[in-house]
Amino acid sequence: RKLGYAIVGLGGYGLGVIIPQFKNCQHSKLVALVSGDPLKAKKVAAEYGVPERSIYNYQNFDAIKDNPDIDIVYVCLPVSMHAEYTIRAAAAGKHVMCEKPMAVSSAECEAMIAACKKAGKKLMIGYRCHFEPHNLEAIRLARSGAIGKLRYFRSEHGFTTGNPNAWRLKKAMSGGGSLMDIGIYALNAARYMTGEEPVAVYAKETTDRNDPRFREVEDMIEFQLEFPSGVIGSCMSMYSANQNHILLMGDKGRIDMEPGTRYDGNKLWVGQDRSTQVTPPPGPGLTQWAAQLDHLSQCVINNREPIVAGEEGLRDIRLIEAIYRSAREQKRIALV
Ligand code: NAD
Repeated sequence: RKLGYAIVGLGGYGLGVIIPQFKNCQHSKLVALVSGDPLKAKKVAAEYGVPERSIYNYQNFDAIKDNPDIDIVYVCLPVSMHAEYTIRAAAAGKHVMCEKPMAVSSAECEAMIAACKKAGKKLMIGYRCHFEPHNLEAIRLARSGAIGKLRYFRSEHGFTTGNPNAWRLKKAMSGGGSLMDIGIYALNAARYMTGEEPVAVYAKETTDRNDPRFREVEDMIEFQLEFPSGVIGSCMSMYSANQNHILLMGDKGRIDMEPGTRYDGNKLWVGQDRSTQVTPPPGPGLTQWAAQLDHLSQCVINNREPIVAGEEGLRDIRLIEAIYRSAREQKRIALV
């Protein structure tokens, strides 16, 4: 059986990336749309075979509870709206996939987890890299001892933002700047590549506040992570240059990915340098998104917890809060 998804938010990611992926899924199908733009929703519904009765807007959203075709709601909205639509979806008796970053604060993340728990519904965060073949192979290599004892992790993630009026650059809607949006890939990778949780963070922010893009949110932030084994993580995120790199160093070699977390074209090397490129085995799905969508469907069918459940999103938001605090107070923040 294929479970039915309702996509909330027909923007760059929901419409441009997620909706076209259902054709690659084995256990998931598109059954409903939620949009503030009725003409757009009607056009998309016609293109993807969604019945007009399964088009909703932000006002009548709660009526999804009466639509048995919808099993899962996928929240593809600006970050400040994640909590509200996750909680309303759970109250309507639906499972939830919510995009990263999970929410604008750890308090909101906790409320989302509690709402889904109370409703007896699954909550998964859209961490697609956990289903991406290069990242999965890198994790396997790190755990297999291929580079020996892990010593040091490094990741830089950034892209150049343009429009100063975009929601990503408005703090109330985004919760923060480059760290929330793209630096979270470096942070999440530091955790899945090492398999450890940081015990302390130290951060430094550099932002040109005269640049109209950065009146409200940070541009560049560099953060160090201390792991219990002694591994040091050194990460950087920015909104003023393109960068996408993950490097894990052990005492016998290194795992290097550049780009590491893109939609496609990721590359992986293992060894002393970049002379040995690794082609990973196929991932769990036809694409990282198909695997991600089908994972939640299968968790619902088999009553299992998603590998990137709400708690995983909450961990990153707690760390992000500590990183911002460290940058603000200019001191190391211990987490335990
Ligand atoms: P977007 O601006 O392209 O789309 C946002 C959608 O929300 C639009 O359809 C917009 O109309 C709608 N919306 C509803 N109410 C709104 C309001 N009050 N203000 C602004 N927009 C409103 O953004 P996006 O790039 O699609 O990002 C959506 C979510 O997806 C974000 O959480 C983002 O972090 C996430 N995302 C994830 C990935 C990934 O690789 N996992 C990639 C891109 C975006």
